[in-house]
Amino acid sequence: MSLQYLETAITYLKGVGPKRADVLNKELGVYTFGDLLTVYPFRYVDRTKFYKISEISSDLPFIQLKGKIVSVETLGKVRQKRLVALFKDDTGMVELVWFRGISWIKSGLKPNTEYIVFGRPNIYNGKVNIPHPEMDPVNAKNSTTASALQAVYPSTEKLTAKGLNSRGIGLLVKELMSGMQGTFPEPLSDEILKTANLCSKRDALINIHFPKSPNLLNKAQYRLKFEELFFIQLRLLMLRDSQKRNIRGFPFLKVGDLFNQFYKDVLPFDLTGAQKRVMKEIREDIGSGKQMNRLLQGDVGSGKTLVALMSMLIALDNRYQACMMAPTEILANQHYQTISQFVDALGIRVALLTGSTTAAKRKELHAALESGEINVLLGTHALIEDKVKFNNLGMVIIDEQHRFGVAQRARLWKKSENNPPHILIMTATPIPRTLAMTLYGDLDVSVIDELPPGRKEIKTIHRYDTSRLKVFGFMKEQIKKGRQIYVVYPLIQESEKLDYKDLMDGYESITREFPIPEYQISIVHGKMKSDVKEFEMQRFARGKTQIMVATNVIEVGVDVANATVMVLESAERFGLSQLHQLRGRVGRGADQSYCILMTDDKLSSNSKLRMETLVRTNDGFEIADVDMKLRGPGDLEGTQQSGTLELKIADIVRDGQIIQYARELATKTLHEDPLLKAPPNSNMAVQLATLNKYHKDWSQIS
Ligand code: ADP
Ligand code: MG
Repeated sequence: MSLQYLETAITYLKGVGPKRADVLNKELGVYTFGDLLTVYPFRYVDRTKFYKISEISSDLPFIQLKGKIVSVETLGKVRQKRLVALFKDDTGMVELVWFRGISWIKSGLKPNTEYIVFGRPNIYNGKVNIPHPEMDPVNAKNSTTASALQAVYPSTEKLTAKGLNSRGIGLLVKELMSGMQGTFPEPLSDEILKTANLCSKRDALINIHFPKSPNLLNKAQYRLKFEELFFIQLRLLMLRDSQKRNIRGFPFLKVGDLFNQFYKDVLPFDLTGAQKRVMKEIREDIGSGKQMNRLLQGDVGSGKTLVALMSMLIALDNRYQACMMAPTEILANQHYQTISQFVDALGIRVALLTGSTTAAKRKELHAALESGEINVLLGTHALIEDKVKFNNLGMVIIDEQHRFGVAQRARLWKKSENNPPHILIMTATPIPRTLAMTLYGDLDVSVIDELPPGRKEIKTIHRYDTSRLKVFGFMKEQIKKGRQIYVVYPLIQESEKLDYKDLMDGYESITREFPIPEYQISIVHGKMKSDVKEFEMQRFARGKTQIMVATNVIEVGVDVANATVMVLESAERFGLSQLHQLRGRVGRGADQSYCILMTDDKLSSNSKLRMETLVRTNDGFEIADVDMKLRGPGDLEGTQQSGTLELKIADIVRDGQIIQYARELATKTLHEDPLLKAPPNSNMAVQLATLNKYHKDWSQIS
């Protein structure tokens, strides 16, 4: 059987007509024979085990019963209509209930016949029943079940309506597999199979769908997970290598006057060890003649901006322009201020371009950019508009990448006529290593895992709303010491109105507790005009106000070393990474800083765990790990745009070890045979080509 056979349209499978093919397309994304084979069961039931009716409770998963139908009747009218069968064994009675297909099902149910009933108990009005069970009359074939584990397939209402419940799908898979007569193309090379100790594709498919034993099922699952992750890694690594091979980059060979002058005369402190290491990695990249594609991870405040600035200076030293893109206007402004201050003495021209740059200013800016008078451009998305043309862009920095889609990244490349500019993506949302391997597997990764010296670890405290007065007292103490405070309220799109009300109520109670003229308070939120916002930010930054009330949308971007307290209101409503990010806004000076997590008195266990995690650790990577375990990777910022995460069987959270191993073996394979041209690797090359053809997302990233 060949790969082509697997590409046969599903409608040609016996038992599938155009109508079933249509729901299979729409509900499960199944278009071909091959697709059907990868509709993997999501659980298995032990069909040798029978429960007694007296043992049933609503918290059991799928169960099997053996007994007889006592009575069948239709109850209720119109939308309440349901078919109820009383089912009994020697220990008791239970109701079986159907809401759809009533007359058809009714005609098939025979009283006083022995049935095997299979379904999931449910509780309704305090009584246990089994909705929509599968019914099998007991006969010689099923009274002694040969295979203990039966697959349960994902199904939907629409599929069920076409007879494709779990069992229906199982029958199609069976039909397909018997048509293939045990011959399945093996996409992995013999060497990989041997090294990773994997079972064959044939055994894997047979045992994933019709497990002969739990042990063989395990082997099948492992093999299929490995295969899935292995091809993702192969693809990412080949993409990265082909970029390195084919895409030439500007060789920034020299570290020149600007960099040296900055380093010797301007830089007010020593670089941390981590900053030095990362600069070395970047210099190796940009000096290599290949294009740099590097991801820089580091907690808020770890000094990424500085690394970005020095990288841009190297571009300038080599007579190229540089730009840096931030996700919000406030952050762009802040970069502009910090960087302008730093490079004032160097005589280079730095400009800012954001959504609020006026048309006149913009025009002037465009011209100066095209002529090369502007050396460094900072800004927001406005920077990637087509009108913005550089003279010779050599270095692009993207700050807080999780806000930028892959497509935007690609647009920046096109900003340079000859070679694409070097690209450095910075993120303060630490990504667990294994996830990064998959999400950013085509990038090289640098990590700043060390904070500048002298920082005191932020003390994090969890307080319930009931102890608010105590918290106010603490805030007053801190203000007396001359410190400043952020109070941040959640602002979430879905509940924006209510959230604004909370914000304004909170602001009011703070102004009552901290009256003028003794206290000055700033407030910023998204509904303010940007000049008013800016004014308020500046008042706080200059120390004219002691408290800054804001929403998370504002991203409290100002770098105020004197701010030592971060009060996070309704902290239970924030995600873990977001809380960690917000907390990073304090602890920038030499004084002890505090983060106070204010929550409702009643907390879900998930919320409690989030609070406990933050109180326990400041380590962004540890927090990212917990976050991922709590939320699953699909919800993590930045992962939505990644098609690579649509996995059929592997689980990016739980299968970290397999990811790592798959990457290792993929690296080794490509090291020996970079283009998979060697005959023993030919099936892998074919498989990769097929995957590339079918995964739109797979070709998009490049
Ligand atoms: P990030 O961009 O990673 O959030 P920044 O580059 O904004 O961090 O740095 C945070 C603060 O730490 C800034 O005030 C910066 O000047 C300062 N800083 C950066 N590197 C060092 C260093 N090596 N030693 C002391 N302070 C540093
Ligand atoms: Mg930053």
